[in-house]
Amino acid sequence: MGGNVTETTGDVPPPESSSPPTPTFPPDNSGNRVVWLMGLILAILVLALLIGFVGVLRHWFALHTGTLHGGPDLYYNFWSGFGSDLGEATLISAVCVGVYTGVRKVNCHTKGCWRIGHHPLQGTPYILCRHHHPDVPNHGATHEHILNQHQKFKREKEAVKTP
Ligand SMILES: [Zn+2]
Repeated sequence: MGGNVTETTGDVPPPESSSPPTPTFPPDNSGNRVVWLMGLILAILVLALLIGFVGVLRHWFALHTGTLHGGPDLYYNFWSGFGSDLGEATLISAVCVGVYTGVRKVNCHTKGCWRIGHHPLQGTPYILCRHHHPDVPNHGATHEHILNQHQKFKREKEAVKTP
C-alpha cells in the first residue's frame, strides 16, 4: 500500500526532503529585511522603466513633430532626459545595496543596533558590539584591567592542566 511508505519515512527524513528547508537565520535576523530591500529596489527599477516608457512616447512624439533635432546628436535628448535618470537610479541602487550589505556584515547582530560588532559571543553565532556584549566594558578598559583578565585566564588554564 502507498500509505505504508509515507509512514516509514516519518522517523528518518530522506536527504531530499520535500518540505521546505528551515531558514538558517534566527527569526530576529535580517533575512526579512533583505527581502524587503529587494522589493524596494524592484519598485525603483519598475518606476525607472515606467519613466523610460513615458520618455519613449515623448521621443516618438518629438521625432514625428520635428522637434527632435535640437541637440548636438540624435540621442542628446535621450541622455539628457530619461537616460540620465536611469544612470542615476542604477547608481543609487548599487550604492544602497553596497552600503547595506557592508553594514549588515560588520555591525552588531542585536536587532536595531548599528554599532560595529567586534566581539563574538561564545557559544552563539552572534557578533556583538561592546555595548551589547556582556563581557566587554562599555567605556574602555585600563591596561591593568586587561592584564588582570589575561592573568586570570592563564591561572584558570593552569588549574585545568593540573588536577
Ligand atoms: Zn549592539
